Amino acid sequence: MSSRFLDGRLRGLPPYVPGEQPKDGRFVKLNTNEMPFPPSPRVLEALGGDTVSRLNRYPDPEAGDFVEALARHYGVDPKNVLAGNGSDEILSFAFLAFFGGGKGAVFPDITYGFYPVYARLYGVPYKQIPLAEDFALRPEDYYGAGAHVVIANPNAPTGMALGLEEIEGILQANRDNLVIVDEAYVDFGAESALPLVKRYDNLLVVQTFSKSRALAGARLGFAVAQEEIIKDLNQMRCSTNPYNLDRMSLAVGVAALEDAAYYEACCRTIAQSREWTTGELRRLGFSVLESKANFLFAAHPAMSGEELYARLRQEGILVRHFAQPRIGDYIRITVGDAGQMEALIAALARILGEG
Ligand SMILES: *Cc1c(COP(=O)(O)O)cnc(C)c1O
Repeated sequence: MSSRFLDGRLRGLPPYVPGEQPKDGRFVKLNTNEMPFPPSPRVLEALGGDTVSRLNRYPDPEAGDFVEALARHYGVDPKNVLAGNGSDEILSFAFLAFFGGGKGAVFPDITYGFYPVYARLYGVPYKQIPLAEDFALRPEDYYGAGAHVVIANPNAPTGMALGLEEIEGILQANRDNLVIVDEAYVDFGAESALPLVKRYDNLLVVQTFSKSRALAGARLGFAVAQEEIIKDLNQMRCSTNPYNLDRMSLAVGVAALEDAAYYEACCRTIAQSREWTTGELRRLGFSVLESKANFLFAAHPAMSGEELYARLRQEGILVRHFAQPRIGDYIRITVGDAGQMEALIAALARILGEG
């Protein structure tokens, strides 16, 4: 029940429901697409020294060092970069800044669950465009969208990705609409739209340190776009929470960017683990979508997604199931390390009575 003081417009709005974060370590945790590996050793070093002892002082409201490190790493100008408290915060700023002007938003019917939540919170009208029967996103469905476009690439929870030409097609066919490309999982094998930012003033690319950089607990995200868009987003940031990134997260973000080799190796390991797991799941009779992300979306003809989820939970393995039209038969499995994937496959073999 809400209090009697809650704004009537907000009453009953469904919030985003994150995956479980159990306190005890008894689960093999494959439910929120985190990295199974710890962050780079440099990240631990960054929290020594005087980062912690200087917590009496506010952090840099411009996140200068972090923004410059991001700009260097991605070969863009700092003016093209915004740092956020997770990419969710940046998406929130974007919905707040750009989507309220009556035009509204379009995104797929099956995609990241936060998009409709933000749309409702900010009173943005939105339309959901069905993915194809095989869950492919058809770029033509977004041509001349008549609204701002939000696309996760790779998409979640399907893991399927569009190529750069397909993203470019959507940008070209929407010159007067903003196109947000949410690249939370791009480092696991998809193509980034970052090289298109110079040529398209309607493109906003959003990425996160939560997945490929093993820093979900630090809340670090960033956006890259042409300068005017970044300025608008900064206006939202400075009007809500100018110190959106704390000193520890800023230090950790800079340190992570200094160890690209470590993260590239982690992402390669996950991609290999993903391919092995896909093969094993198919051997057990699952249909598995072609994933470029660090998770797999899979369904079995003999058991509903809900039951698979519940039975795996009994076996100490947490995955995600979405009680939603079209995808009720599926479970989303985060790709973990080799041992976790072996445990998953062994448990599924038992559950399906084949092992
Ligand atoms: C995980 C995820 C995010 C949010 O990431 P944070 O940076 O942790 O806020 C955004 N978009 C998609 C599609 C995600 O899966």
